[in-house]
Amino acid sequence: MTETKSPLADGENIDRAFKCTACSNHWYYTRARCAECGSTSFETYSLGTGRVVATTTVHATPPGVRAPNRLGLIQFDDDIRLVAQVDGPEISAGDSVEFGDITTLRSGDSPSAGPRVRLE
Ligand SMILES: [Zn+2]
Repeated sequence: MTETKSPLADGENIDRAFKCTACSNHWYYTRARCAECGSTSFETYSLGTGRVVATTTVHATPPGVRAPNRLGLIQFDDDIRLVAQVDGPEISAGDSVEFGDITTLRSGDSPSAGPRVRLE
């Protein structure tokens, strides 16, 4: 599917990655245009399975953020890396994980949402 409207317009595409149809650059986080060529034409696709690069657990979290907050740096195909909350059992560098869902990362006055992964 090729889209021409900005993913920032509705924020609903954060569960998918983006591929620029002009230069084939890939990215994850929503942005209005390709960082490489400036095109606003792109396709979206599901991330699927990635590999854990590093993990950490944050025990002192701000109000509205779960504690402990387990996080992983995940490498997906097409050079896409993202930081995600980790669900389920402990993971380590080298483990395969699948993109889970978009979840509430912080509740309260300034809520935000982001990706969560789980062991494959
Ligand atoms: Zn591009």
